[in-house]
Amino acid sequence: MPSLKKMKETMYKLEIAPDIIGQMGLDANQTGKNFHVVFPAIDMMDKLLTKEQRLAVMEREGCCKGGKRDKDSKAFGKEHKDKPLAEKLALMNTVEYMMEPRLNDDGSFTITFSGHQNGVHTGKTTCSCGGIKKLKQPFTVSSTYCGCCAGHFLHHYQNALGVKLQLKEINSSPLNTNGEEPCSFTFETV
Ligand SMILES: [Zn+2]
Ligand SMILES: [Zn+2]
Repeated sequence: MPSLKKMKETMYKLEIAPDIIGQMGLDANQTGKNFHVVFPAIDMMDKLLTKEQRLAVMEREGCCKGGKRDKDSKAFGKEHKDKPLAEKLALMNTVEYMMEPRLNDDGSFTITFSGHQNGVHTGKTTCSCGGIKKLKQPFTVSSTYCGCCAGHFLHHYQNALGVKLQLKEINSSPLNTNGEEPCSFTFETV
């Protein structure tokens, strides 16, 4: 799940006005995976920040940045470092859990988390973010939350592709569609 503390730090770095940051409830106690303080903060971001600011804050979040995926992505980066980006993207599905990125006409690329139905929503999929599947129904939260999933992929894709990436769009989320739509994001190189 996203870290309120880190989100606050990022907002200061982005020079968002302190009185705006102060309205988002980012000082709430988050220990014990407290979604009841995280969801309102996410919804407040939608009210108080521009889309660009929200994406910039969330792309720096992300769970599971270490471990096997980190190792695998870095190994992929080394192995394929001399290949053009399109070729690397076409090979990304050889790395476990990295999905099948789709290259768009403007050079950006889109990742869709294939997801799975585990009873969280009535729809066919749920968010990949840790802890979501343990939540009691019903709940809904802005797709901005899925920036946490995006931050996860951004971290690993940067290492695998050897480029700097930016989150361009959160295309859809299970969290505000009762599981009908998957987590899907578009990244561009910067
Ligand atoms: Zn997460
Ligand atoms: Zn998600």
